[in-house]
Parts: sequence; C-alpha cells; structure tokens
Amino acid sequence: MRRVWRWAGASLVVLAAAPAQADELRDAVTADLPALVELYKDLHANPELSFQEVETAKKLAARARTMGFEVTEGVGKTGVVAVMRNGDGPTVMLRADMDGLPVIEQTGLPYASKRRAVPQTGIETGVMHACGHDTHMAAWIGTAQLLSERKDQWSGTLVMILQPAEEIGEGAKAMLDDGLYTRFPKPDYVLAFHDAAQAPAGHIGYANGFALANVDSVDIVVPGVGGHGAYPHTTKDPVVLASAIVMRLQTLVSRELNPTDSAVVTVGSFQAGSKHNIIPDEARLQITVRSYSDGARKQLLEGIARIARGEAIAAGMPENKMPKVTVADPYVPATYNTPELTQRVVARLKPRFEGRVFEVPAVMGGEDFSQFYRADRENVESLILWVGGVRAEEWAKAQKGEITLPSLHSPFWAPDAPVVIATATEALTAATLDLMGKP
Ligand SMILES: [Zn+2]
Ligand SMILES: [Zn+2]
Repeated sequence: MRRVWRWAGASLVVLAAAPAQADELRDAVTADLPALVELYKDLHANPELSFQEVETAKKLAARARTMGFEVTEGVGKTGVVAVMRNGDGPTVMLRADMDGLPVIEQTGLPYASKRRAVPQTGIETGVMHACGHDTHMAAWIGTAQLLSERKDQWSGTLVMILQPAEEIGEGAKAMLDDGLYTRFPKPDYVLAFHDAAQAPAGHIGYANGFALANVDSVDIVVPGVGGHGAYPHTTKDPVVLASAIVMRLQTLVSRELNPTDSAVVTVGSFQAGSKHNIIPDEARLQITVRSYSDGARKQLLEGIARIARGEAIAAGMPENKMPKVTVADPYVPATYNTPELTQRVVARLKPRFEGRVFEVPAVMGGEDFSQFYRADRENVESLILWVGGVRAEEWAKAQKGEITLPSLHSPFWAPDAPVVIATATEALTAATLDLMGKP
C-alpha cells in the first residue's frame, strides 16, 4: 500500500508534555476541551448530508451569536457566516465544513450515528461523519471562543464560516455565488484544517504549494451498432470500441504528460450490454481525472476527447455516431497553499508544536476549500493544514504492520477527537493571533 503521509522518522511526542514555560493559550484550550468534546459527540451522533445541514448550522450559529459574532444563516443554502469586527487590520476567514456522508457507521462508539437520510441518489442510507467534519466544527467553535475572549490581543476583522456540501464539491461555490465576498468582508487570509486518517494524532501536516488535486468527472457515451452476437460483421461493437478507449486512456499519464507532473485517469465504471449473445448499441464510461496544474488538467481533458473520437474513427464509426464526452461542470479545482502564508503560519506553529509539524506531499483527493483562493487569486492567500487523528497505540501497531488503518470516508474511521480538536483549536487560534496580532 502506498502511504500518502511521510512521517518516517517522526518520533511520537507525548502530547501531555508541557511546554518549557507556562502557555496561556494551551491552558485555555485544555480548559475548554471537555465542552468541545461534548459538542463533538453531539455533532457526531447527528450528522446531516450535503446541503441538508439545517440543524447543524442552527446549533452552531446560535453559539457564535452568544460569543458576540454578527451571524447570517442561509448563505449558499445552509451555510453560516459569523463576523466579528475589531478595529483596523487584516480580514482573516476561518472555515469549517459541516456535511456528513452517506455511510453506515460501524465504529461501535457509544455516540455512533444511527441517523438515516436520503442523498442526491434518492436512495435512503445511513449518515456518518466519516470524513471528520465534526472535528472541524468543534475546533471552529473552540477557536471562535478563544478569539472572542482575546479581542484585546488582535485587531482586524474575523470572518468565521461554516460551509455546506464539501463532500459533493458544491458548498464553497454556493457560498461565493451567494455573496460571501461581496455581502461580507472579503478575507486577506483564509485558513482551514482537515483531520488526517494516515497521520498520528496531534501532528500537523502542511503541503507547500498544491495540497489537493483538481477533480474532474468525465462521462463518455460510446455509440455502436447493435445486433446478434453471432453476426458481429453486421454490427459495430461498442464493447470492443469502449475497451480500446479504456486502454488508450492509460497512455495519457504514462506517455503524454510530463513525468514530473502527477495525474490520475481512472475509469471507475464501464457499462454495456444485457445478455451473452447480443451486441449492444451503446457503452458508457465514467472516469475520474485528477491533476494539479490548470495546464495538466486541460491536456488530460483534451486528450480524453481526442482518444474517444480517434478510437471511434479507427473502429469505422460514422461521423454522426462519435462518442459523446461530457465533463462535469463545475469541477473541484486544486487546493493551493500560497507560499507566503504557509511559511508564516508554519514558522509560528513549529516552535509551539515542537516536533509535531511536518511538510507532507500533495494528495490526489479534492477539497472545494480551493474555491476561496481561486475566487480572487490576486488578493487572497490561503492555507489548509492536516491534523493527524490516529490514536498513538493504533499508529504504533500500523507502523509494525499489525493493523491497517481505515481511511477517511471509511465506516470505521474514528479519530482521536479530543487530540484533533485541541491541536486544531490551538493551531488556528495561534495562527490567527499571529496574522491579526497587535504589536
Ligand atoms: Zn470527505
Ligand atoms: Zn472532508
């Protein structure tokens, strides 16, 4: 198994170890943690699907209001924007995502979700915070609390947002389309974190530059000319044609893209036919395409269209029966950590979390957090951090090969929530105080 995280050589730090001198911020996080863990358990037991985060949004909006934020609900359907103005200075936006996944929880935890709901597919299913967005929200509340109590230590405008529908890649865009940067103060800096299922709890990972990939979904309908399986010469077999397309697609990354530019083209679904002896009149392919740069993305998408058409011509298909290639719009663009902000925050976090902050490579997963930077690349700097969530004892077993760790989205993913929430709350608060701190 290819390990995404490279924590090799990183020795596990005892998380309870106190820093050399008294740390007021860490003490405050420790004091707030029991209440945040209670909130986490409540959120975990009551997950809601993308764009259905109604109760979640309401619950957290009410809390932000009691802390003194101006709160607007219903931004981008179920999104929440909480603003705290505190004099001159930069505008910092902190984002947490709210949605759970259509996954039936199998963690066996006492606060495991028993919720059911109907996703976009229309088929009822269990719902679970299998991506750990509940840890994001608990740390968001923790950070809001600490910053609202420390208004004497910072100056500027704090915008805290709760984003819907990250899992379907539409929530960030929905909030932007609903005026996130026009109805509310536009941020100079945007920060977020994501829990990590392949890293020890309490460790912080950052990618320099690209952090997550462009995600494109491509559908190809491949027409053929159907007929009897025993008389193939009277047909144009779309199974053979689509197979040729699938094989030729493998050369896009291996033969056409610059080898130092990473990308993935995966055909995840190939459907055709109904019976042994019938040549169908159509085949359908569903493809996920992952890349980082805009250039690589364009090259791959153009290549897919060219290969589909080229193979159809080679198969003797007439012009009016060329494959139909559809690229889903909108797509999830690559998440980019802007270098200046990344270096600044990392410089702040490294001494605070001694031995627990690591540079990590980009991954091929996607995150629509990218949209907040891409909405104004000239003026917005952005950074997403990873916060490891694997319990120390499980991490040790996995390193010895005794267990395989569940990934994000697994029905078994149960992060070490108190450690994730404490680490993220402290990290986001420290980073924000650094960006908006009074000299
Ligand atoms: Zn997810
Ligand atoms: Zn997620």
